[in-house]
Amino acid sequence: MKKCPQLTEEFLRELVMRGMSGAAIAREVGCTAETVNNRRREFGIGYTDFTFEELFWINVDKNGPTPGHCLELGKCWIWTKGKDSYGYGLVTTPHLNVRQAKASRVSWIIHFGDPGNKRVLHKCDNPSCINPNHLFLGTQLDNMRDCSNKNRMSSRTGSNNGRSTVDESFVRQVRCEYIPRSTTNGLNALVKKYDIPYGTLQKIITRETWSHVS
Ligand SMILES: [Zn+2]
Repeated sequence: MKKCPQLTEEFLRELVMRGMSGAAIAREVGCTAETVNNRRREFGIGYTDFTFEELFWINVDKNGPTPGHCLELGKCWIWTKGKDSYGYGLVTTPHLNVRQAKASRVSWIIHFGDPGNKRVLHKCDNPSCINPNHLFLGTQLDNMRDCSNKNRMSSRTGSNNGRSTVDESFVRQVRCEYIPRSTTNGLNALVKKYDIPYGTLQKIITRETWSHVS
């Protein structure tokens, strides 16, 4: 059997995981499709061996930009495959009972479970980002408010309405620091850190209150 020295098990596994056919791999490494298939058999790599998550993560670049308005968030994880016209990553999947899902939503499901009827929104304002720590749950209404506020179309409530004990800069800060289910930056930790009632903080994070603050 003719060997192709470039085609190590690890490299072949990665090319197959990227969805390349035997013929495409053969072109890539400069050998015949037959050699590729022999190698595949030798290493026991089938075309359906990969889990949904393995196939998902191969399309993610974890070395994206750090959001300028909140450096504490760290780097964005950029979805490198198909995107919609707004820049949201799209995943084609039979696994979620839908034909196509937003990559940010799939990332949330992988890390935290089903968000139900809530929408997965971005703290980093980068629609192609799927870093779970940059995502938060909100309603469609929050999303619309978020958009309209980013366009400076509305600003009605907040620290100038006379009944707030927190201000807009605190709201921005605490949303920026919040990381879902984190022991150091989760709800409980931030409640302790800022000595604020749990329910109050939860509503700020989920944008039930202060939804006009972007
Ligand atoms: Zn991000």
